[in-house]
Amino acid sequence: MNFSSKLLENAVTEFSRLPGVGQKTALRLVLHLLNQDKADVERFGAAITKLRNEIQHCSVCHNISDSQVCEICASHKRDKGLICVVEDTRDVMAIENTSQYNGVYHVLGGLISPMDGIGPADLSVDSLVERVKTGEVREVLFALSATMEGDTTIFYLHKRLKDQPITITTIARGISFGGELEYVDEITLGRSIATRVPYEGTLSR
Ligand SMILES: [Zn+2]
Repeated sequence: MNFSSKLLENAVTEFSRLPGVGQKTALRLVLHLLNQDKADVERFGAAITKLRNEIQHCSVCHNISDSQVCEICASHKRDKGLICVVEDTRDVMAIENTSQYNGVYHVLGGLISPMDGIGPADLSVDSLVERVKTGEVREVLFALSATMEGDTTIFYLHKRLKDQPITITTIARGISFGGELEYVDEITLGRSIATRVPYEGTLSR
């Protein structure tokens, strides 16, 4: 791409570093910003700089937070005896949006993936084991992706936690709401049958 301005080129290069943004999209976004009021663009830039400089990770659960301990961990209304283990902040947001969960979280920061060179030491595994050892925890619920990496991670964490006096559970893996049985893949359908639950427990609240 030939740019008429070095400043324009620099901005496009920075935007095209973002995931899913190619050069054409980057150019469109930059030209859009150029048409905005200076004050709006300054606010945009300041928000990103402030985010990067001031964001913290909760010292308890490792979720992204504005303070040293996140709002969920600091809340007296949350059940500290139940820890839901997730891959990243997006999963915390997804589960919070269901309004069905009142425990706390533990954000691993990824999944174990030997292919990508990601091992337990790269994730917040030790701090999870330490949290469980405090004795306050009754149940650890794994809410990880139904992938090879997710299963490997659960297998490893289960091994680390199985001697603790806690219940270890995983979220149910089954047929999505509105899904028709004939279109469900065999693994999901097979698992749904193997992990069937009493009818009473399936009634929506
Ligand atoms: Zn927290």
